[in-house]
Amino acid sequence: MIDTLYLLLFMLILLVGSVLGYIYYLKEKKEHLDSIKRGFCPHCHQKSIEVSDQRSTGCGPKIVSFRCRNCDYENAFSVDGGSCGI
Ligand SMILES: [Zn+2]
Repeated sequence: MIDTLYLLLFMLILLVGSVLGYIYYLKEKKEHLDSIKRGFCPHCHQKSIEVSDQRSTGCGPKIVSFRCRNCDYENAFSVDGGSCGI
């Protein structure tokens, strides 16, 4: 009985940990995107960010990859693709 309780507690801690980790990941991702939208690299804070790749599936969000010419920073974000003309 007490073993089951420990197991449940352990799983709860794992769950909370992964949720917090995911929230932190999203928060960091958003901060990076905010910085990139202003034209700055989130890593070295130079105005040397450029679009390296852009994939669109037509409507909906598109995947845009950004690259920094100054450091090795590279990251991909899903950006809203705007209206589809419907
Ligand atoms: Zn950089």
